[in-house]
Amino acid sequence: MPRRRELGRGERVIPGLWRLRLPLPFPGVPHCNAWAIAAGDGIVLVDTGMHEPGSMTELERALDQVGLSIDQVALVLITHAHVDHWGQAATICDRTGCEMWMHPNHEHGYASATDPALALARRIEIGRQSGVPEAVLERYAERLRGMASGIARVVEPDRPLLPGVEIETDLGVWTVHETPGHAPSHVCLFQAERRLLISGDHLLGRISLYFDYGWTPDPIGEFLHSLQVVDDLDARLALSGHGKPFIDVHGHVEGNRRLVRERLDAVLDAVREGPKTGLEITPRIHGEPVTETNASWWLPETLCYLQHLELEGQVSRESEGDLDRWGVPSN
Ligand SMILES: [Zn+2]
Ligand SMILES: [Zn+2]
Repeated sequence: MPRRRELGRGERVIPGLWRLRLPLPFPGVPHCNAWAIAAGDGIVLVDTGMHEPGSMTELERALDQVGLSIDQVALVLITHAHVDHWGQAATICDRTGCEMWMHPNHEHGYASATDPALALARRIEIGRQSGVPEAVLERYAERLRGMASGIARVVEPDRPLLPGVEIETDLGVWTVHETPGHAPSHVCLFQAERRLLISGDHLLGRISLYFDYGWTPDPIGEFLHSLQVVDDLDARLALSGHGKPFIDVHGHVEGNRRLVRERLDAVLDAVREGPKTGLEITPRIHGEPVTETNASWWLPETLCYLQHLELEGQVSRESEGDLDRWGVPSN
């Protein structure tokens, strides 16, 4: 049965702040959020949704439901360079003439559009390193070659979204906080007087971990540090990249810390039994078999844990051709 497509929906969270729920074509991730914040005659739009046929209509539909229009967008801010968060930036900026600001470490998100062949090769390499059979990798490559990038057009940010940048809105000033881990370009935005946090995918209402592998030395270490950064802000309400706004921000920080710890422990338990490949370790983390659907999410995650534990001296890698096996250090 064809999946019924969700429609873009808008709702007011508090006066001057709206959630725009935009459909996504991914199984298991049916929508993402963009946020509109009143700023004088216009709005600041945080994140854009992904670019695909009809995606602008969904954004316009969501805006229209709360009495706003795309022509009011005066500035686009991007929490991180994943396609569901910045894919439509070019279309919006072309239409309104507004600027787009994003963290400068966005190469991880641009590669799939600027050099799709290289981006694919990097993904295949992760599979090969983890012990995925060649035939499976070939099928995966075939599937990815036919897929659209989700990015309307690559546009460079007009301004780097870094600590020190302040965004003035009717709700007050928002500050920028670097929170890499989920993605190297990730930032959270914070409104101190109201203790509002736009948390992107760093902190989600339903805890779900994803890490970009291969762009920085230690995404897990970065993520744990970023959790502390957000915890210290003491936010009252989090507006996340997917799902409903949520309170108990500290509880969610703790939940993420716990889950990372559990998964690191599961990796350690597995390698202590004897050297293993990433593909062999991954089901031990999730308690479920690796499939062709979950592999592209789970294998990079496993490699991030291994990389973190290797930096801590708790696991060691033995390479045999392209394949890595992980065990405990001999001394
Ligand atoms: Zn993301
Ligand atoms: Zn996302």
